[in-house]
Amino acid sequence: MKTRFAPSPTGPIHIGNARTALFNYLLARQRGGQFILRIEDTNTDLSSEEHIDALYRDLRALGLDWDLPLSTKNGTTQQDRTGPYRQSQRGAIYAEHYARLQHADRAYPCFCTEQTLRLLRKRQLAAGEPPRYNGVCRHLSPAEVAARQADGLSAVLRLHIKEEGTVVFDDLVRGPQVFQTQHLGDFIIRRSDGSPSFMFANAVDDALMGVDCVLRGEDHLTNTPRQLLVLRALDLPEPQYAHIALITGSDGAPLSKRNGSRALADLLAEGYLPRALVNYLARLGCSYANDALCSLRELSAGFAPPQLARAAARFDLHQLAHWQRLALMAMQAEQLCTWMGESVLAKVPRDARAAFARIITPNILLPAEAVPWAECLYGDGQPKMDSETKELCHLAHTLYAAEDSWSKTTQLLAQRSGKRGARLFKPLRQALTGRQDGPALDDLVALLGKERVLQRLRDPKD
Ligand code: GLU
Repeated sequence: MKTRFAPSPTGPIHIGNARTALFNYLLARQRGGQFILRIEDTNTDLSSEEHIDALYRDLRALGLDWDLPLSTKNGTTQQDRTGPYRQSQRGAIYAEHYARLQHADRAYPCFCTEQTLRLLRKRQLAAGEPPRYNGVCRHLSPAEVAARQADGLSAVLRLHIKEEGTVVFDDLVRGPQVFQTQHLGDFIIRRSDGSPSFMFANAVDDALMGVDCVLRGEDHLTNTPRQLLVLRALDLPEPQYAHIALITGSDGAPLSKRNGSRALADLLAEGYLPRALVNYLARLGCSYANDALCSLRELSAGFAPPQLARAAARFDLHQLAHWQRLALMAMQAEQLCTWMGESVLAKVPRDARAAFARIITPNILLPAEAVPWAECLYGDGQPKMDSETKELCHLAHTLYAAEDSWSKTTQLLAQRSGKRGARLFKPLRQALTGRQDGPALDDLVALLGKERVLQRLRDPKD
């Protein structure tokens, strides 16, 4: 089983694309196959090296290692013939296939101008027909083509669709699909600047790279019949297709910046853990029997295209938070320190950092949320207290100064003050942290150390 992720490096990877990459990875690994990465960088205006580097970084961060297929020939391992994996480097391969198509009378140059095409489209729409190219240039004689070329007119290359009737394929997620070829129209396979169209390069590469299953977003469903026609005209093998429902925002509309779409790199930079992201994305529109936090290996064992839902999946930060919480709970104190980072821990004394990370983490989801904890526990400012709290703290101070154990101190304090439960612990928590919520008070006291606790219990006016 060979699968692929074929991003266009025109921007950072968002969660939709990350999920597509993950599903392809899981499917390949589940079958002991290969997962390849193909960079679809034929749009030179929008593609950039930075985006490609960022793409590698993001995929590696999630643990989605891709394979460079190797083949064994005469006992020696060598680079598979299916590369290169960057479309911008595959010009010669595309040229060969254009030549084949033209030779077989399956492709022709089209000189129609933008304006002509616009008018055609308008007419067809007005007549209630689906807009498509009407094949005018298909009928140009070789002499007419030569004359136009001599005039320096630019041309695109179109696939001549000869098939009549329907293109049928069985989608692994959506079932049988039927498209009328008469609605497709001869489409562009090479742009006027000589670059391959998406429709062409994407299909040809899947076939030449030996991809078995094309698992991608449902926005590509209507491209599939055209891509199958390219492959049939070239007599190339056809992959299976699995079109997954797109992720929607919280409002049900397609995911976009406006309704919560996030770049993967931003989520990682904020401190969302790769393990949490992977567990969340794997279940976004896919059902798993196992609802525990899983490794990539465990996720791949349970992955199968029939489990992919046809209904759109909603991006939900609460769900992501659930996985983040589980992923955090699975981490050791030292790993938590690394996750929080130097800048967050700057205020925390070195020997208290591991304990700080362990005790505070259950109260936070992201490293930035640890900052106020570091400040309230180790900052200089004295939390504000009302007079009743001051009185209680004064007593607590006296008792704790003469007593080693904090729990003994609170027992005595309860007896002497006549307060217990929330009426006792809330003011103490306020005095020690300036907050009403958070980790168990005993843990906080242990974290602060006796000296700091005494200092905070002392009425600042004393
Ligand atoms: N480059 C295309 C995209 O990023 C690939 C689509 C596909 O997976 O076939 O949308």
